[in-house]
Amino acid sequence: MTDHDHLLAMLTRLKLTAIRDQVDTLLDEASRKEMSLRETLTFLCEAEIARKDQRRIQMATSIAKFPFVRTLDSFDFDAQPSVDPKLIRDLATSRWVANGDTTLLLGPPGVGKTHLAVALGREAIKQGYSTLFVTATALLASLRKSHQEGKLDERITYFAKPKLLIVDEIGYLPFEANAAYLFFQLVSRRYERGSTLLTSNRAVGEWGTVFGDAVVATAILDRLLHHSHVITIRGDSFRLREKRRSGLIKAPVEVALT
Ligand code: ADP
Ligand code: MG
Repeated sequence: MTDHDHLLAMLTRLKLTAIRDQVDTLLDEASRKEMSLRETLTFLCEAEIARKDQRRIQMATSIAKFPFVRTLDSFDFDAQPSVDPKLIRDLATSRWVANGDTTLLLGPPGVGKTHLAVALGREAIKQGYSTLFVTATALLASLRKSHQEGKLDERITYFAKPKLLIVDEIGYLPFEANAAYLFFQLVSRRYERGSTLLTSNRAVGEWGTVFGDAVVATAILDRLLHHSHVITIRGDSFRLREKRRSGLIKAPVEVALT
């Protein structure tokens, strides 16, 4: 075995695959920049950590099942003056996730709720928090099915596991009978452990109607709102605005979307 093969074998055994795959390039660059031994070691470690972070984020992002790729960078704050960029930047630190808090994104369709939910989920993943995205409809269908199959506990454990659970589109469809109670069980299990982000087109005051059970709704809200951050987005649909700008529909029109 040559010295070079020996080095590659050791790097493989230590799972330093980024260094292994680019060892010549990295060492060339270190010597070109006349790095000291200590600087070179730091440089190599940085390359390895960058690769490991990238892999981890990729893996966690695919587990999160986001409906689309959206980032905070691609959110146009000027187009949405009702959203305070400072507040979003603060949420982007994911301290609220560490604390197990709830974030509510409220507002009419098309104003960027899901965009911000996905972007904040991405930030949470970057900080190392496991994240799962699900629509309210899919979540409730899944809980109801497992309840019927006598496997509710397993399902609740699945949805209770991620540090951040994003439940999108509460209130677009009213809950079916019993659904509020199933949701309550999940919220109870997650309470003060996991963090939850909810989006809704309905004000919190209307959630009793959405859940179809005022008593259970109160119990759910009591837990969810205990430590919460509420962002209410106003204005009209970003999608429609883009279409108007491109001349697809005439400006200005009021379109009822609900
Ligand atoms: P909602 O969930 O509130 O119905 P979405 O988040 O799905 O709305 O937004 C609709 C579309 O418009 C998405 O493609 C989203 O990325 C885009 N969008 C909405 N608001 C903004 C914004 N302020 N800047 C950039 N894109 C936006
Ligand atoms: Mg949405």
